[in-house]
Amino acid sequence: MVKLHNLYFKPFISESEIQETVARMTKEIADDIGDEIPVFVGILNGSFMFVSDFVKKFPKPCEVTFIKLASYEGLKSSDDIKRLIGITQDLTGRTVVILEDIIDSGKTLGEVHRIFENEKVKELRIATLFYKPEAYKKDYKIHYVGIEIPNKFIVGYGLDFDGLGRDLPEVYQLKTTQHMINIVLFGPPGAGKGTQAAFLKEKYDLVHISTGDVFRNNINNETALGMLAKSFMDKGELVPDQVTIDMLSNEVEKNADAKGFIFDGFPRTDAQAKALDDLLESKDSEISAMIALEVDDEVLVKRLLERGKTSGRTDDADENIIRNRIQEYYKKTAPLKNYYSAQKKYFGVDGIGNIEAITQRLSNVINKL
Ligand code: AMP
Repeated sequence: MVKLHNLYFKPFISESEIQETVARMTKEIADDIGDEIPVFVGILNGSFMFVSDFVKKFPKPCEVTFIKLASYEGLKSSDDIKRLIGITQDLTGRTVVILEDIIDSGKTLGEVHRIFENEKVKELRIATLFYKPEAYKKDYKIHYVGIEIPNKFIVGYGLDFDGLGRDLPEVYQLKTTQHMINIVLFGPPGAGKGTQAAFLKEKYDLVHISTGDVFRNNINNETALGMLAKSFMDKGELVPDQVTIDMLSNEVEKNADAKGFIFDGFPRTDAQAKALDDLLESKDSEISAMIALEVDDEVLVKRLLERGKTSGRTDDADENIIRNRIQEYYKKTAPLKNYYSAQKKYFGVDGIGNIEAITQRLSNVINKL
């Protein structure tokens, strides 16, 4: 992901795909042109990278020149095409191939045709690396197309967003969801995830989703989901993955405008972690960090028994159930540390101490994201 000015862009077309496309285009054009020496005309600024790679790969002698037009302002193609540098050499009788980085509405192409109206070239061909068929509104023939793309704003490989991004060797697409902070609060039962989440959601304006709380609400409301979940929760076992994943997706969808989420008690298995990645990816987002509250088992048991005196939670009242929950954690959930460590997203925080001190330790991690 890259940030340009205030917006985020995600990878879209790789450097290798671009280079393969440029190579294919040079071959196609060289075959068509035969033995003539063509003049390639790049449209500045955007086409400078394309033209450079193109002529390096072009297998025969050629000439290169540029004209400079300006059409984009910010994210919108403006109606007003400015001609900044026109043709600077005599092209009479020559085969000219325009090299465009991208053709979308076709306004720039219209200006190119106006420029060449009075030139007595032998032939004018149009080649573009990227083409947006959904946006194209003109009738001019486009002879060579590299890659057809949907009508989304892209940057990189010569293309800019308000001056930035031209230098990137690959192409990025504007993210539909802008930057979210998504935190997985991790740790065994009793580590203090719920307590800390309550502070962090206020501090960072995030939506807190506790799968345990959602299950408990369902139990209180005697829903079918609640009845199903209860049979597992009462024994201190995990509710089956698919049930939990569907419920979590629902909760995320309910908060489409969230600036980010604190996931508390989810994911608890590998399958849940993968499902969460997929869900966030479908929103052009991702987990920012897994932050683990590290607390000794014996402290956990004591805390949960203490909480059980007032929480009304049956799974907090019985030491055997508590120990089973902790077992489930080590067996199925603790391995997720590796999952997030592999993505360099795992942060451990000492979960023993007073509540404010622990909130501060968590904030120190979040502030650096
Ligand atoms: P918690 O409130 O997070 O301690 O969760 C209480 C109980 O709800 C757990 O012991 C599980 O039975 C169930 N539960 C909560 N979250 C999940 C999850 N992500 N996957 C499976 N079961 C869960």
